[in-house]
Order: sequence, then structure tokens, then C-alpha cells
Amino acid sequence: SESIQLTLAGEARMVAFGRLLADACQGYGTVYLQGNLGAGKTTLCRGVLRGFGYEGAVKSPTYTLVEPYEMEQASVYHFDLYRLGDPEELDFLGVRDYFDSPSLCLIEWPDRGKGFLPAADIILSIEYLPEARIVTVDPQTGHGRAICKTIAG
Ligand code: ADP
Ligand code: MG
Repeated sequence: SESIQLTLAGEARMVAFGRLLADACQGYGTVYLQGNLGAGKTTLCRGVLRGFGYEGAVKSPTYTLVEPYEMEQASVYHFDLYRLGDPEELDFLGVRDYFDSPSLCLIEWPDRGKGFLPAADIILSIEYLPEARIVTVDPQTGHGRAICKTIAG
């Protein structure tokens, strides 16, 4: 199929892969991040933000649910929906504006927001190994396929 699978040994490689994803997406799109707690979803998001020149701290927005990063090169919205009680609550966070403007949405635990999120351009799944991670990138749209092509080089 068109999906890509990579084995990344060490946090630095996950960050580097995030930078590559930042380059590949051209500043917009929706990425669903699948994987258990500790899989490396937030580490990957940090890499994406580094790719856009953001040098500050990146933490999972576990309690605020979304962290906006409005930068020169792109607007990135990082979601962590682990603690979202009901998908409808997303409407009260004012996230419509995020979805309507050209932006990159990185969404941890997207299943919790089902029906209230934009469709994914790519679904990125992270599998845990003791000292590495297996990352699978599954394109869902034309934009997603273009991103995968760029990543595959
Ligand atoms: P999540 O957001 O999925 O809960 P985090 O990114 O917060 O996960 O934490 C993942 C942990 O795994 C961190 O301690 C990070 O250093 C480590 N990690 C991330 N990517 C890799 C990798 N490719 N190989 C080994 N360890 C990794
Ligand atoms: Mg996280």
C-alpha cells in the first residue's frame, strides 16, 4: 500500500522525524496520532514544532486539551484529548476557528473527539519497543499522500 513504516531508535530520531513531517506538510493538514501513553506522540509533536522554528517547551496539553502555537511559518494546534469527557465539549473550546483557518492540527487521542474533529490527512501510529518506536504513516487524503511521498523521499 501507500503507507510508510519506519523504525526510529531513540528520542532524537523521533524529533528528527517530526521536523521532516513539518517540512512535508507545507504548513497545513490534520494528523491523528495513535499510540499508548508513553509511545512518543508528544515527542513527535515537539519535533514538528522545532521544524517550524519553535524552540520553547512542548508539553502534552492534558488539562487544557489544546495548545495553540501561532508562528511565522504556520499555525499549529496540538491536541491531547485523553481527558475529554464527551466529544461535544470540543465545541465549547472554540476549536472551530482552528479548523477553519489554514493550520496544522496534531491530535493525540483523536477517538475521544469523534464526530467533532476534521478528517485526518494522515493517521500516524506509534508502536512501543524497549529502545525504539515503529512509526506507521497511513495517508487518508490527496494531501496525506503528498506528505507521504515527500517523507519517503
Ligand atoms: P506520549 O505523548 O505518546 O504519551 P511522550 O512523547 O510524552 O509520549 O513520551 C514518550 C517517551 O518515549 C519519552 O520518554 C521519549 O524520550 C521516549 N521516546 C520517544 N520516541 C522514542 C524513540 N523513537 N525511541 C526511544 N524512545 C523514544
Ligand atoms: Mg502526549
